[in-house]
Amino acid sequence: MIIVLKRGTTEDQVQEISERLDQEGFKIHLSQGVEKIIMGAVGDRSRLKALDLEALPWVERVVPILAPYKLVSREFQQEDTIIQVGEHQIGGKEIHFMAGPCSVESREQILETAHAVKKAGATFLRGGAFKPRTSPYAFQGLGKEGLELLAEAREASGLKIITEVVDVRDVELVAEYTDILQIGARNMQNFFLLKEVAKSSKPVMLKRGPSATLEEWMMAAEYIMDGGNYQVIFCERGIRTFENYTRNTLDLSMVPALKSLSHLPVIVDPSHGTGRWDLVSSMTKAAIAAGADGILVEVHPQPEKALSDGKQSLTFENFASMMEEIRVLASALGRRVKGA
Ligand code: PEP
Ligand code: MN
Repeated sequence: MIIVLKRGTTEDQVQEISERLDQEGFKIHLSQGVEKIIMGAVGDRSRLKALDLEALPWVERVVPILAPYKLVSREFQQEDTIIQVGEHQIGGKEIHFMAGPCSVESREQILETAHAVKKAGATFLRGGAFKPRTSPYAFQGLGKEGLELLAEAREASGLKIITEVVDVRDVELVAEYTDILQIGARNMQNFFLLKEVAKSSKPVMLKRGPSATLEEWMMAAEYIMDGGNYQVIFCERGIRTFENYTRNTLDLSMVPALKSLSHLPVIVDPSHGTGRWDLVSSMTKAAIAAGADGILVEVHPQPEKALSDGKQSLTFENFASMMEEIRVLASALGRRVKGA
């Protein structure tokens, strides 16, 4: 439920409501807008009557949120959430490109890629140090060494870092190195991992599970917000369908759907979403036209030699020429590619 307070409500008055709600077992989330203070209270609705909050003179109205997701919903917060990462803002007018290899493979590979994608207009360097692979015999990532290489590439290029955390035990370690924690598609409903990243001060990008519905995905984000971390970003990366020409079916309708149901930013990953580098540029344009706040894209110095996902990785040249086209599209839409 949402409690909208009247203009001019004092801190003491907010405190009084908080205490009453707390006594009835509600969890409280405060959202201080420019105009109004909105309190989100999650708990047993049948206890609400006894509280009779509307009788308090500084309460404007009490509105139940009917959807199962509460904190994630537009009802809880009408304005878009803007996530500040250094000088970058995700979720506003800026469009961010998070580009880099599927996996961090070597010092040369990650440094070379960082410089190339930065030059073309990326603001974030992506790269997996811990890789969730379908086969136990496939390259599993460089682990801590991969994180150190990412940090070195950040120093050298000025890019921010986004990398995946796959294990509850590694959240602190990965958070020490990265600017954004990535939760991979396979872990979208790993509730223990979600609760752990909820304790971090770093923003979390939550990828959609390969067979997750919009509601399941939003409920996963709810776990992170309920745990205290309000800096959540959705990432559409395609779902499993009967189609097998593409690796996944990129569901771009999720971008406007999420934008209407939620206040959180939305990123699209056309690399995992298609599995084919030749489709990446077109799907990137479509994602931006649909209202995405950014793109997560795989770029590799030599895709044919990549240890993972070479088939869906762009070369430096292809990434740079895509970015040229995107700049034109973004300005036609009244937005701006931040790094370009
Ligand atoms: C990735 O982005 O590196 C990745 C493994 O993607 P996903 O979790 O979407 O499969
Ligand atoms: Mn990959």
